[in-house]
Amino acid sequence: MRCERSSFRHSAKNPGDEKVALLLRRAPRRLATNLGGNALIECDVLVIGAGLAGLVAAAEAADRGRTVCIVEQEGEQSLGGQAFWSLGGLFFVDSPEQRLMGIRDSISLARQDWMGSAAFDRPEDYWPRRWAEAYLEFASGEKRSWLHQQGMRWFPVVGWAERGGGLAHGHGNSVPRFHVTWGTGPAVLAPFIRRVREAEAKGLVTLLFRHQVDDLVVQDGVVCGARGTVLQSDTGVRGQETNRIFAALFEIRAGATIVTSGGIGGNHDAVRRRWPVDRLGQPPADMVAGVPAHVDGRMIEITERAGGREINSDRMWHYTEGLKNWDPIWRNHGIRILPGPSAFWCDAWGNRFAAPAMPGFDTLATLKAICATGQD
Ligand SMILES: Cc1cc2nc3c(=O)[nH]c(=O)nc-3n(C[C@H](O)[C@H](O)[C@H](O)COP(=O)(O)OP(=O)(O)OC[C@H]3O[C@@H](n4cnc5c(N)ncnc54)[C@H](O)[C@@H]3O)c2cc1C
Repeated sequence: MRCERSSFRHSAKNPGDEKVALLLRRAPRRLATNLGGNALIECDVLVIGAGLAGLVAAAEAADRGRTVCIVEQEGEQSLGGQAFWSLGGLFFVDSPEQRLMGIRDSISLARQDWMGSAAFDRPEDYWPRRWAEAYLEFASGEKRSWLHQQGMRWFPVVGWAERGGGLAHGHGNSVPRFHVTWGTGPAVLAPFIRRVREAEAKGLVTLLFRHQVDDLVVQDGVVCGARGTVLQSDTGVRGQETNRIFAALFEIRAGATIVTSGGIGGNHDAVRRRWPVDRLGQPPADMVAGVPAHVDGRMIEITERAGGREINSDRMWHYTEGLKNWDPIWRNHGIRILPGPSAFWCDAWGNRFAAPAMPGFDTLATLKAICATGQD
């Protein structure tokens, strides 16, 4: 979403605002405080959310000389969001690791698999399809060398996630493509945190933790920034649910605003509201959460209020091999058991699940099969 910063500068309506606007003209990313007791900031690019997506966007914008402000509702201890907890399994097509294992992959095979899984069939699938095409080019092209050059490396055994039902045009990966990063999720984050911190030291990036966005600022139909609440600091460990106690207000104006606020997995009410009953039946009565509470989906509604459009909300993905963590970090903390080769998996009555409802093959088919037993 683009917005001319000058439109903000000329919008001053009272003498106090003009003074702030003048200050900002001289120092584009400098904080102008005391605007009615609240902080007002201006930058070229505003990034909402300091997860992996936000860090990548900020690092790339700063490399191009842009001033970037990253706002994050959690504390510094949770920098990196969900990716910290992840296995760091990356999708590459026709990689050296695959070739070493004798796996023959190609962009056309990957495209066939992707289209078979996505099953694009709605008018709103136009951009998802374009995105998929671009991502396939990226994953079979510069993605690996771009990350390799930033220091990332991968375990030389490629995993086979989501094999699907074994049909050529159906759902799933025809070959193993899941490249586990040495050092897992934290090692995926490391180069981007390093780049953002370097840009911060140069004065190009400002990181604002405990800043929760409550609204996007819209002028003449264009998003020009965001406003929200500065939350009280919280000493909880990474991933723990933090307080939502008001400390102050803030507002940020930016030429471009990027929302990278993660999904909805930590908010089961939001999951249940969007649940595709027609395809999956009723949602299970009991679910565990594989993600921290900050994955709350709140920004989706905020973005919609500003004119954004949520699409395909019923196309969701759930892992079925979740167990309650005996030592939870977040509420209802679930951890996933990765199946070993030839795992034996049966329902609560001891009956073996039929293909493709097996761990690692077709997770939504498995979910449907489990729910159908009435013993979720
Ligand atoms: C256990 C686990 C294992 C995984 N394994 C893999 C894997 O192997 N391979 C893979 O590809 N993916 C994996 N994933 C998924 C992947 O990690 C995530 O999809 C990815 O990290 C999401 O990044 P993100 O930046 O989009 O969102 P997030 O990491 O959720 O970051 C969004 C940030 O925005 C902040 N935010 C939200 N709303 C606001 C607001 N209103 N104001 C201010 N800040 C806000 C949040 O606090 C959060 O820090 C895994 C995830 C988990 C949890």
